[in-house]
Order: sequence, then C-alpha cells, then structure tokens
Amino acid sequence: MERYIRFEMGNGVRWGVFQEGRIAEISGNPACGYELTNIYYQPSAVRLLAPVEPSKIVCVGLNYREHVKESQSATKEPDEPVLFLKPPSALIGPGEKIIYPETAERVDYEAELGVVIGRECRNVAPVEAEDFIFGFTCVNDVTARDLQKKDVQWTRAKGFDTFCPVGPWVVDKIKYENLLVESYLNGELRQSAKTSMMIFPVPVLISFISRVMTLLPGDLISTGTPAGIAPMKVGDRIEIRVEGIGSLVNDIT
Ligand code: MG
Repeated sequence: MERYIRFEMGNGVRWGVFQEGRIAEISGNPACGYELTNIYYQPSAVRLLAPVEPSKIVCVGLNYREHVKESQSATKEPDEPVLFLKPPSALIGPGEKIIYPETAERVDYEAELGVVIGRECRNVAPVEAEDFIFGFTCVNDVTARDLQKKDVQWTRAKGFDTFCPVGPWVVDKIKYENLLVESYLNGELRQSAKTSMMIFPVPVLISFISRVMTLLPGDLISTGTPAGIAPMKVGDRIEIRVEGIGSLVNDIT
C-alpha cells in the first residue's frame, strides 16, 4: 500500500510517494504510470495539493439509502446510478479554503469515497472494473443546496471554484468494500456510514459510467454521500475521513 501526493515545493508542482517518512519525488501523475526521480523531500517542507489531475470528475448522487430519505432531490431509491459532473476547476487540496459564494444561501458538506482510475476504461463489466482502479481518496462534494433546488439540474450548485476538496493523498491497494466514511463539522461527528451501504457498489459504478463515457487514467469518481448532510458557515472547519485513507480538512471563507 502506497500513499501518493501532489505538492508544491518552491514554485514547482510535483508528484511524490511516501517512503519511510520521506517524500520520494516521482516523474508524473502516478495514476498514469511513473518513475522515481531519486529526489527526496521532508514532508514538513512541502504544501500538499489535490492529489489528482482528472480530465473529469464524475459524481454519483443518491447512493446511500439513508441519504435518499433525507434528500429533497428524490422520493425513492434510484433504479440506476444518478450521475453528474464537477469541473476540475473546482478542485482544491487539503488545508485550502472553501469559498462561500455570494449567490448561495446554504452550502453543505458531503463526505465521499473517491476512486481514481488507472487505465483507460470503456464498456467494462462490473467483474472487470476493479482492474481499472488506481486508488482511493477522500472527497468533499461541496454543494450549494439552495441553488441545487432552484436550478433543477446541479451544475452551478456543485461547480463553484473550491467546491471539490480532495486528498490528502491517493492510497492504492486497499479493500474498499467496507470502509467507514465520516464527516466532522468543527470537530463534531456529522456523517458516519460504511461503503458497504452504497446502493450501487464501486464496480457497478465504474461499469455503468464506462458505458456512458470513456474513463481516462487519473479521472476521479466520487461515489456519493451518506446521510447527515447539513449546512456550513463562514469560519467553519470541515473534515472528511475515510478509514484506511486519511483525513481531509478545509476551512470555509
Ligand atoms: Mg455528493
């Protein structure tokens, strides 16, 4: 199991992998294949960035039963995965600030397991889907809930700059079927569910999405949020934790 990061050092953006407490620089996006450069950094000397550079961020709505019940976007469980996109321009990394838009009146957190694709993927079956996964990360699918309701479709509500915190790293080779997904607002537990409670599990999602659009190495799938969504306000701190991956913390400004 490795932890892959993207980071800023001086004025350069680099990729790395943790090795015995140090960061070993690698030649490029690890989801696309890489080589070690034999340059090392101390973790305290770098600033972490979002550990992904996807061509697209494919999100899944309404993928946990208890969340469907609390949601105003649906009255029953979906028959097929509900897909939407977030623009890559919404990405921020751990410790970066979520900007509360002037036009929004309610901005919610959504703790989610993120899946990073490692191989070009088109029309794959669920049983093959695991072969196309590079790794996993924490995602906060930040949502302007009032605008989601007002617009009917979700592009604006989900697409503001800074509305896609991801990180702190991508972890490969973990068992993803039964991980605890949690959010903490100002240190208080708000969401807590296991990935085993997904209506459509990860291989089904990859298969379904791959029959719509070609998934490329580095693409990010966000697998839906459990129950417990609620608004944040300026000055709050939101933390997303996924068991076996880590903790993603961002403040609202
Ligand atoms: Mg979501």
